[in-house]
Amino acid sequence: MEADTDILIVGGGMVGTPLALLLAQQGWKVTLLDAVTDADTGNSAAQTHPLEQRCTAISAGSVGLLDSVGLWDAVKADACPMTKVHVSQQGFFGTVRMQASDHNLDALGYVVNNNHYLTALRSRLSDSDVQHIIGARAVSYRADATSAAVAYKIDLDEGSDEKTISAQLVIAVDGIASTMRDAVGIGIRHHNYEQCAVLGCVELDQPHDNVAYERFAAGGPLAMLPRTGNIASFVYCIDAKDQNRVAVMEADEFLAMIQLEFGHRLGVFKQVGKRTIFPLTRIEAQVQQRDRLLLLGNAMRLLHPVAGQGYNLAIRDVAGLLSTLGLTPDVDPGDASVLASFVSLRESDQNRIVKLTDALARGFRGYSKLPGHIRGAGLLTMAAVPQLSQLITKQGLGYVKSAPAVR
Ligand SMILES: Cc1cc2nc3c(=O)[nH]c(=O)nc-3n(C[C@H](O)[C@H](O)[C@H](O)COP(=O)(O)OP(=O)(O)OC[C@H]3O[C@@H](n4cnc5c(N)ncnc54)[C@H](O)[C@@H]3O)c2cc1C
Repeated sequence: MEADTDILIVGGGMVGTPLALLLAQQGWKVTLLDAVTDADTGNSAAQTHPLEQRCTAISAGSVGLLDSVGLWDAVKADACPMTKVHVSQQGFFGTVRMQASDHNLDALGYVVNNNHYLTALRSRLSDSDVQHIIGARAVSYRADATSAAVAYKIDLDEGSDEKTISAQLVIAVDGIASTMRDAVGIGIRHHNYEQCAVLGCVELDQPHDNVAYERFAAGGPLAMLPRTGNIASFVYCIDAKDQNRVAVMEADEFLAMIQLEFGHRLGVFKQVGKRTIFPLTRIEAQVQQRDRLLLLGNAMRLLHPVAGQGYNLAIRDVAGLLSTLGLTPDVDPGDASVLASFVSLRESDQNRIVKLTDALARGFRGYSKLPGHIRGAGLLTMAAVPQLSQLITKQGLGYVKSAPAVR
């Protein structure tokens, strides 16, 4: 029997939404199921305050993919370019500087407000051929030789009956606690870094000049990303044993602490918005595909945020999937051999990023067992060995190897 749709995407977050738009542009009949409703898309006054935003650094490579299909136009007005990246270690001379002009680029990447980014992409869904079902929570999964079926419930509709939708391929982009991953029995590998991330935004007393900073401070890595206005979005990775102490700090005390850790390259930190603290773990699914189900985004892998690679890797996976599916007309997108070729295409990039992120997370954590002068020498080596810093930059820029083919 013919399936209701070619490709069913479960999860309309930062990966699922552009994925749906891109697959529809490639000519697939796409249905996007998302538990989120229009009412909770997160653009309340509090969340749009400049100091309350949550941000992601998007690499030049990811931007290139979105731009090639006209999606970057939807988000670029709010995106803040990073023209330079400056990496340093507190108390040591080693620094690595990268600049867009060295790569003939306008920007090494852009920092976006997650809510604005997602809202802008979602607004494109209504003009596309994607069938978008909102407020719909997928609850179970089954597959046979020719198709898969997902049962879902409309959240707002108390006591509503389950509905079912069938597809040739189901893509789970339903986040870290993926219901679809669990439903097919794919297990996860879990590593606890014994660190926590503190997220927030600070107001600066001087322009940031579009420079992004990664500072390996005594307490742990501290990233400062430029946002529109004199705002920097920070991710500060601290030792888990300091979590309670940092959580109860008054704003002034917290500002004084990160000012001390970061120094004055961005001038004086004037104000800090609401801080969010959560434990840092690496979660990876044991396999990426099974029984017509493919895992992408956080459903597949959650990385330590030290190198800002999680989203960009997921977008390169999206590009890889588009090129795999675009290769053969009339291909069954859920066929195990098609999904296996996608997995093998993406394996080496995924492994490289996981290793790079893990090495940075372990090697540069606060209170690392590595002596500081050796870690400093690591940065100096990066500065002195262009190939190494190019490798880091190349991963950071997130080049997409092959352009997505159109069916
Ligand atoms: C502190 C931090 C900083 C980061 N910074 C960067 C960065 O600078 N650069 C970078 O590249 N990456 C960064 N990342 C990684 C990035 O945030 C993730 O890669 C990205 O958010 C993953 O998006 P996703 O769409 O896979 O998942 P999510 O954003 O979690 O979306 C999941 C979606 O699925 C829906 N859903 C869930 N369950 C169901 C269900 N049963 N049925 C239907 N729908 C469902 C949800 O409603 C949601 O819309 C960072 C991560 C962290 C933690």
